[in-house]
Amino acid sequence: MEEIKNEKGGVSVATENIFPVIKQWLYSEKEIFLRELVSNACDAVTKHKRLVSLSEAEESDAPYKITVRVDKPCKTITVSDNGIGMSVDEVKKYICNIALSGALDFIEKYEGSDGSGGIIGHFGLGFYSAFMVADTVDVVSRSYRGEPAVKWSCQDAGEYEFSPAEREEKGTDVILHVNDANLEYLEDSKIKEILAKYCAFMPVPIYFESAEAEKAEKKDGVEGGNEPSIEPVNDISPLWLKNPSECTEQEYKDFYRKVFSDYREPLFHIHINADYPLNFKGILYFPKLNSEFDNLEGQVKLYYNQVFVADNIKEVIPEYMLMLKGVLDCPDMPLNVSRSYLQSNGYVTKITNHIAKKVTDKLSSLMNTEREKYEALWNDIKIFVEYACMRDRKFYDRAKGALLFEKTDGAKVTLDEYLEKAKEKNENTVYYASDKVSQAQYLSMFEDAGIEVVVLDKVFETQFAQMLEQDRGIKFMRIDSNLAEALKGEGEKLESEAAVELFKKVSGNEKLTVKFESLKDVSVPAILNVSEEGRRFDEMMRMYSGGGGASAMAEETLILNSSSSLIKKLIEKPDEAVAKQLYTLTLLSRRRLTADELKEFLKTGFSMLEERL
Ligand code: ADP
Repeated sequence: MEEIKNEKGGVSVATENIFPVIKQWLYSEKEIFLRELVSNACDAVTKHKRLVSLSEAEESDAPYKITVRVDKPCKTITVSDNGIGMSVDEVKKYICNIALSGALDFIEKYEGSDGSGGIIGHFGLGFYSAFMVADTVDVVSRSYRGEPAVKWSCQDAGEYEFSPAEREEKGTDVILHVNDANLEYLEDSKIKEILAKYCAFMPVPIYFESAEAEKAEKKDGVEGGNEPSIEPVNDISPLWLKNPSECTEQEYKDFYRKVFSDYREPLFHIHINADYPLNFKGILYFPKLNSEFDNLEGQVKLYYNQVFVADNIKEVIPEYMLMLKGVLDCPDMPLNVSRSYLQSNGYVTKITNHIAKKVTDKLSSLMNTEREKYEALWNDIKIFVEYACMRDRKFYDRAKGALLFEKTDGAKVTLDEYLEKAKEKNENTVYYASDKVSQAQYLSMFEDAGIEVVVLDKVFETQFAQMLEQDRGIKFMRIDSNLAEALKGEGEKLESEAAVELFKKVSGNEKLTVKFESLKDVSVPAILNVSEEGRRFDEMMRMYSGGGGASAMAEETLILNSSSSLIKKLIEKPDEAVAKQLYTLTLLSRRRLTADELKEFLKTGFSMLEERL
């Protein structure tokens, strides 16, 4: 057995600048040092397990575990494992040379990129990330083969020293002597927080220990201060790794609550368990949204072999999926690469497509086998589904059959079901309302005429309708747009040039079209319609200009009902004030009045009341 001599050395010349680079370049994501060290410890345990299974190593007496210990007074953080450990030669081989050149490679490759944002979670920087927070790092290790324990101590100038060490058990302690600029990492809460973020599902039990907490406990007379915390901080077999057929509803709900700290129950989940040829697993949840704008930003956590990488990586997860919440574990994901590389990576594309397929499969199966339940969920998921359809043609093609529309009476129909009923009165036209209250007048006319109306009340739904129009060769018409044939009555069609001019005048709108039409509903003297195309164009302009802005393009048509007795009277006895008031009433049934319109409307209204008495 080789005797360990006190031996000094220096990390090779070519790499002398690595320490300052590590420290500065990774400044924004310093905390990943702990992930790197704990995942090295996990690897060391996994390697030993494998050797045991190959009968190349003896089984461990003690259970496998990792301990993270914070000692604030001594300014150290220690990550210990009872994995394979390293002999002095292995420390030289793996830590002094290879790892360093690996890290150097990594840095050289990406230093040119835009620093912090370039690489996802700075994954795989490895052991040397410890120098982001420490000036000196000691490694005390003993190989499973039983060679004497060794201590290797390295300073951030790259000088190291070997010496013999005391360690009975196989495994490794990595001891970070935290520098003064990073004392925050000596807080228990900070370390616990980092462990919870990155290590919550690593495959070896991780225990947290704190010298300060132990001291406090001793003072209070609590026994067993030196024992590791009873409960590991992680869950070594996360739900996503289980076979979906072995998971209960309750387990899915508990997992959701724990991971996302969301007290509301998710609507439903999708467990993805792809083995071959794609190897990735995960659980996606549809969260409950309270309103259109609530919480639209979901959270999809990406893991690499149970190690947390980052949240919401848009290069991997289609943007529209980011409304969901979930976990994805992709062990084959290339992570030591730039984000832009990921976007064009075939594996990533396949994952993305697979996720979209799973989601649409779930929607279709709910629709086809549990329609009632699906209908009850629809209002909560429709933003997601419609948005996803608009963003991804393939998603739309697969989800088409699972699209629902809510009618004004609350019932849900598919487009085909609607169109089937529409054959008689409004073939290939879908009538919709965007606001049941302000469009109530129009709505009751449609109801009387026996035409079904669906509700499209989200701002982006006009664009969604447009997509469906193109795909299905149909037309969506808001109920206050072009006059539906079915609303027209049988009465005579009056003509009166004087009345037309009168209304044009009182409206103050030169471009207003005024025409006569006989309406079925004789109680409605006039309605104001706005062309569908013009209104959509205005909506679009308003969206781009950030709201506000008057109607520029929308052509307005005032339809005077020639079956209305009021209109007939007005033709016989033209009255400007009445015409003005009537016009304003038609405006009111479409939109809110402006301040000036309202003031004048009230003033005229009051004086008319007085005249009646
Ligand atoms: P990577 O983990 O990506 O290989 P690192 O720089 O983190 O790079 O580690 C380099 C090597 O050092 C590892 O591959 C492993 O052989 C060895 N090593 C690091 N930490 C440990 C440990 N806790 N126990 C045993 N070997 C370790």
